[in-house]
Amino acid sequence: MIFRAIFLSIVLMCGLNAKMFQSVDVSKGVFVQHGKDKMYCSNCAMSLSTYYKTNHIHKNHQYCSLHCLYDATKGNIPDDVKVVDTNSLKFIDAKKAYYVVGSDKMGTMTYNSKYAFKSFDDAKKFVKKNGGKISNFVEAYEITEEDFLQDLKLLQAKKEKKTYKLGKKLYTKKCEKVNVNSFETISLLKAKLKNVCKTRRDRELQYVAEYLWDVVKKNKVLEAFGKIEYTKHDKCPICGMFVYKYPKWVAMVEVNGKKIYFDGAKDMFKYVIKHKSKIDNKKVFVTDYFSGKKIDALFAHFVYGSNVYGPMGNEFIPFYSEKDANSFRKDHYGMAVYGFLQIIEDKEIMQDIKEL
Ligand SMILES: [Zn+2]
Ligand SMILES: [Zn+2]
Repeated sequence: MIFRAIFLSIVLMCGLNAKMFQSVDVSKGVFVQHGKDKMYCSNCAMSLSTYYKTNHIHKNHQYCSLHCLYDATKGNIPDDVKVVDTNSLKFIDAKKAYYVVGSDKMGTMTYNSKYAFKSFDDAKKFVKKNGGKISNFVEAYEITEEDFLQDLKLLQAKKEKKTYKLGKKLYTKKCEKVNVNSFETISLLKAKLKNVCKTRRDRELQYVAEYLWDVVKKNKVLEAFGKIEYTKHDKCPICGMFVYKYPKWVAMVEVNGKKIYFDGAKDMFKYVIKHKSKIDNKKVFVTDYFSGKKIDALFAHFVYGSNVYGPMGNEFIPFYSEKDANSFRKDHYGMAVYGFLQIIEDKEIMQDIKEL
């Protein structure tokens, strides 16, 4: 497993785009999406033909991998999925397919590869040659779920080391400027880039798309938010502390036009839970831990039980981006990532944080 992880990262680092096991000629595959982004994964925009043998279809969206299908359906195992039969290259019902998990053949977006087969015999032959274990769709989906954060971390590390830098350079040199906020998905953005960048190489277009989507778009959104404004006199009603001393942690709730400040999300939650009936959940704000920007608490991702403490000890540490929250949770031994409504509705979470 470790060997495979290292091998995958080496291949990712080199950006190997030569013919991979997954790849098929466009003329040999089936592509069901319509529109300009027809040939791109609905979740990550990677080329569907390059990663064809791990393609999945769900609700007329085509995904490069089980990883991307999981990302798009998180937690809810869908029942209308189709997957490519590795041998015939036709789509088959995923629920009737035999998945080979963890063979020596490289995976797509994962170190733990998964290939599907229509017949049990084909799967067995594949295992004999390449190793791996035969599973059904639900098992393969659950393994994807278990591996998800680790795979994401590996992919993110590659992006931060290489993709974003190259993407920025290519965008500056080879592309007409685009307004990233006008695209609904990264695959539509990539389809546009194909027309305005002086490169036809899919890999280069992918770098530019990931740079624009992850870096430029996220920063633009965060910049537009500004910071939570407070004065030297604003005190937390729960603990009595002056909030200006803890700018990284400030939270704020507007109740009937009046702004109430907190020196951390935890005290904000105590207040919100206590005054639930008076509070409009859309008027609750926290500080994004990475950028220091003001974000809506309702859409934030809170890391719970990490080794980073706020002014009041254990905290719910807020992030705008779910990816940031997940990688922070991993790096700082966090126990969970919760949403705003989960924390105010599940009494046990507040109870647990007291007992940490
Ligand atoms: Zn994908
Ligand atoms: Zn407080």
